[in-house]
Amino acid sequence: MIRMTNEKKELTPDWDPWDPWYTRVEKGRYELTSVEFTVTQLCNLRCEHCAVGEELVEREGIPIPVEQLIAALEEIDTLQTVSITGGEPVLNPKVVQNTIQPLLKYCKERGIYTQLNSNLTLPLYRYLDWIDDLDVLHISYNYRDEKDFYRMAFKNFGKEINPKVADRLYEQMIDNARELSKRGVFVSAESLLSPFTAKYIEKMHQTVAEMGCKRHEVHPLYPSDFAKNMELLSLDEYREAVWKLLDHRHPDVWILFGTLPFYPCSDRKEDRELWRRLHQEDNVTVRQDPDGRNRLNVNVFTGDVIVTDFGDVPPLGNIHRDRLSDVFERWLNSPVAKEVHCFCKEARCAGPNLLVKNAYYPRWDFQTRQAKIRVDHRESSDLL
Ligand code: SF4
Repeated sequence: MIRMTNEKKELTPDWDPWDPWYTRVEKGRYELTSVEFTVTQLCNLRCEHCAVGEELVEREGIPIPVEQLIAALEEIDTLQTVSITGGEPVLNPKVVQNTIQPLLKYCKERGIYTQLNSNLTLPLYRYLDWIDDLDVLHISYNYRDEKDFYRMAFKNFGKEINPKVADRLYEQMIDNARELSKRGVFVSAESLLSPFTAKYIEKMHQTVAEMGCKRHEVHPLYPSDFAKNMELLSLDEYREAVWKLLDHRHPDVWILFGTLPFYPCSDRKEDRELWRRLHQEDNVTVRQDPDGRNRLNVNVFTGDVIVTDFGDVPPLGNIHRDRLSDVFERWLNSPVAKEVHCFCKEARCAGPNLLVKNAYYPRWDFQTRQAKIRVDHRESSDLL
């Protein structure tokens, strides 16, 4: 295993180590630079957009010892980032103590960037023991107020919850985000654009800025798990919401558009114009999708290795018997990966997310498409 010798570079719109773009351009191929661990399937919420959804449990099994997880990381010479997700990773103190803290310490020592996904609704002290070892604290923000939070976070709970409980959790989340941001933590808030959030995305962005978040991530609502039957935005509505957000954004907050459902090979001029604008604005980035391009997910209970969110793709391997680098090579050679791994360097595009392709472009053959515009250092031109 190669240890990174340099200090970590600051995370900025010009350096996002979760983005597979850099490796694809430098090496001419994808490499496994990112591992995500699902460390718990417990959660105190049941958000309607939850990508884990039906797999959330009341009690969970015995996790794989962290030494074995670290041994799996030791074998990846190309590793740059580790993400920790759940459920709510911070809910069970044993998970924090036995899995999260040792993983963060290991990554810090090796110079690996780390992200933890939390709903941030627990008392502040639950975050303070380990937060200094973390690079990105990722939260969800899809609400105008506590009433939206109550409706969205407890919709799938299965029993009646007193709205006052939701009020307290919502306030705790806002206070925690403010306080941790004040202490210098890089808080990145994610909003999923849906028919509901698209109407209020400017207000949500304003609250994200007021909480002191350094970054606002914007993705489509994923048609997976709890959200699989939810209505999706049309592409026209999505484009309009992005345009509106860009017109009213807070200039100091980095907006990261991920799994964006628009591509520079689009036949529609308005899609190409949007792509162009997104690459010309300061403090705005379009991230190529890490899932299946540089990242694998490991379930720490079963050891199963998957590409996050691609629920229809069965496990690709298991860390009890496979090296993660080998699993990744197998995935790269699979027909499903090849279907979405097109690449147009001149337009800074590396193709669609599989779920987004299936939802919005089921008939497009991305392997035969080609960018129609060029974007380069915040300038752009037509190719066709
Ligand atoms: S990389 Fe794929 S999606 Fe992007 S412009 Fe090229 S063909 Fe289209």
